[in-house]
Amino acid sequence: MTKPVSKKCPCGGGKYAKCCEPFHAGTKHARTPEELMRSRYSAYARGREQYLRDTWHASSLPSDFNLSDDNPTWLQLQILATGTHGNRGYVHFKAYFQIDDDIGVMEEQSHFVRENGRWYYLDGEAVE
Ligand SMILES: [Zn+2]
Repeated sequence: MTKPVSKKCPCGGGKYAKCCEPFHAGTKHARTPEELMRSRYSAYARGREQYLRDTWHASSLPSDFNLSDDNPTWLQLQILATGTHGNRGYVHFKAYFQIDDDIGVMEEQSHFVRENGRWYYLDGEAVE
């Protein structure tokens, strides 16, 4: 059985077609770290591996990045705080996921950098 693909955007921002899909399709580029964060979360949820590579800063992209390794079912994204300072930005978020019957949450502060007008994910640190 295959699950029907929801029309809702995984990030919680409304319809996928009007929310993160244009970013994934390359017809729009994220204007803020929050948009990039949301679209990257949705890319994890939708298995958009190439988008994750494309929006990951070259200096920190793991050479062996592979979405099929240990990608849980992503349930919900919660943005707690975000800000920019020049070409640097951050997003503090919680992401809820499911592995088998277990629900987990990761809380992280992600760092973003803007180069040539485009935002990229740089790195993140776990928030305890
Ligand atoms: Zn979205």
